[in-house]
Amino acid sequence: MTQRLAENPLSTPTQPVPFDRIAAEHVVPGVRALVEASNADLDAIGNDQSTATYDNTLLALERATEKLEYAMGLVEHLESVATTPEFRAAYNTILPEVSAFWSGVPLRPALWQRLLAFSKTAEARELAPTPKRFLDKTLDDFRRHGAELDEDKKRELRDVDQQLSQLTTRFAQQVLDASNAFELVIDDEAELSGLPASALAAARDSAASKGKAGYRLTLQAPSVTAVLSYADNASLRKRIWSAYNQRATEGELDNRPLVREILALRRRKANLLGFANFADLVTQDRMAKDGKTAQEFVAALSERTRAAFERETAELFAFRRELEGPESSPLAPWDVGYYSEKLRRSLYDFDEEELRAFFPAERVLGGAFDVAKQLFGIQIEPLTDMPVWNRDVQAYRILDDDGSALGVFYVDLYPRENKRDGAWMHGLLNAVPSPATEPPQTHVALFCSNANPPAGGKPSLMNHREVETIFHEFGHLLHHCLSKVPVRSLAGTRVAQDFVELPSQIMENWCSEKTALDTFAAHYETGAPVPAMMVDRLIRARNFRAASAQMRQLGFAAVDLALHIDYSPERDGDVNAYANSVLQGYAPTKFPESYALIASFNHLFSHSVGYAAGYYSYKWAEVLDADAFTRFKSEGLFNRRVGVAFREHVLSQGDAEDPMQLFKAFMGREPRLEPMMERQGLAP
Ligand SMILES: [Zn+2]
Repeated sequence: MTQRLAENPLSTPTQPVPFDRIAAEHVVPGVRALVEASNADLDAIGNDQSTATYDNTLLALERATEKLEYAMGLVEHLESVATTPEFRAAYNTILPEVSAFWSGVPLRPALWQRLLAFSKTAEARELAPTPKRFLDKTLDDFRRHGAELDEDKKRELRDVDQQLSQLTTRFAQQVLDASNAFELVIDDEAELSGLPASALAAARDSAASKGKAGYRLTLQAPSVTAVLSYADNASLRKRIWSAYNQRATEGELDNRPLVREILALRRRKANLLGFANFADLVTQDRMAKDGKTAQEFVAALSERTRAAFERETAELFAFRRELEGPESSPLAPWDVGYYSEKLRRSLYDFDEEELRAFFPAERVLGGAFDVAKQLFGIQIEPLTDMPVWNRDVQAYRILDDDGSALGVFYVDLYPRENKRDGAWMHGLLNAVPSPATEPPQTHVALFCSNANPPAGGKPSLMNHREVETIFHEFGHLLHHCLSKVPVRSLAGTRVAQDFVELPSQIMENWCSEKTALDTFAAHYETGAPVPAMMVDRLIRARNFRAASAQMRQLGFAAVDLALHIDYSPERDGDVNAYANSVLQGYAPTKFPESYALIASFNHLFSHSVGYAAGYYSYKWAEVLDADAFTRFKSEGLFNRRVGVAFREHVLSQGDAEDPMQLFKAFMGREPRLEPMMERQGLAP
């Protein structure tokens, strides 16, 4: 076993990471051996009879799982970007074993006693702030995961967790199955009038792929969005809207009973662990600290948005009457997207596609790097001859001002069949001081996107949203690679869910400022900068109906918190009706009774935790990023002094300090809601 483990490229963190040497056959034996080794190390910590010290408890705990975390991170990464049937099978085999290992860590009585014993020593009382925070957070984390429960209650907790994991997995699968079970094939093109040519072509291809003639509409996002935004036929819009918003409500695939069960299990779990509700349990280590604070945040923002929201709704109805006469009927839910799109075009006549020519992928990447170099005083250089998982992947070295190495990162821009959708950053290694026997490490991270690849002699040309995505993921990457935190569990992006998007979202701001755009955006043929008028239109078109968009997000946040804090089946009855009554308060039109958004609300119900009682985080982080950006806006977009302050107080700090303290250290005060409202054109 030892012999084989030594040969396994997953067995120990090495640099450069040997991406090209890891195969499916390494996954199961490699990860199993590491779980075994971690188990032995954790036993050893618990059984240690010597005086409890920081080194032989907390630091030993960190080290006990370091290699396993690295190996699993690498396996997850390769599963996302270069999977094969064999690799996926291996991944699926070890995933439940590794999950069981992690949930078992806080339930080890000897380990818990040992941590408690250390917490009572003189050394613990005199720890420096970061190790002290590590101790406190570890104790809290163990408690929140059941360390203090007696054996019966621990069994109950394991049981609840297992049921939650099964039910939430089933929830997600049923959303997928119910979505895929729907299709609407239309023979007569006239019924699809209004749809853009690209949407018609996609519908025709979709029908052809099923061996059918005509146009096939599905419940996949591009198809639904095209119909709801462009189809002139109101009954077609109604049909698609209704099918989409009643997904997973029929027969065997009905998710509503699962929602009720999941909520009950989450409440039971929270109560078992001494919390009043699930929101209090999961927000305890976030900035919000408790569910009520998150609810107050949502309420305060709704209050400030409501007047503009009502004005936008009235304007939309007035626009319809202008088009169709004073007798036209009030707006139905399936009319909102359609008339909004018409109004938007009448006001702005702006085609986002025209902007692509100014955003070749190479220039966008270079632009993001330059912003970081100028602001944070770092250098970025391409690396050749590095092992990678695909030949399109580019590696870079990131250096500090004085030339010292900070880390290595990889960029993987284009789609492939064996790569998953979307864009993301993944931190593979955190450079923290290691035992002297190991070579010093630097940070390792990567980010992925799925932009249009170069084709027909043209470079990859990005739309503005894709440009923002590159800056966003690069912001997460900087948070990882500029970390100076000496404790791995508190380093880089391992911060509260309602804080983690600050470093990423703030970077997006440099994509909407003309002076910043001029440093990198240029027409791929003529080299001309983006015309000022186009930037102006882009911003105004984006802020179109901003209050309505914000209310929609706040509605999701409000229903999420209401379900996880206030809802009582005995008092409030049917869960779907209850959720609808909350959502109705944030909607521009009256929902039919059959509306069942929560039956397909994956954010809340497709993971044991996921974004449950966390949907508010999106807006919360938006408030932080808009507010923090005001310093750059007033003191200079490329002001090194402000950049260095942001690096010092936020990017380098991980979770070494309470995030509110970090924010205050940078801004000199607590966050304000106004800058976000202003950025969206919603300031009074
Ligand atoms: Zn993000």
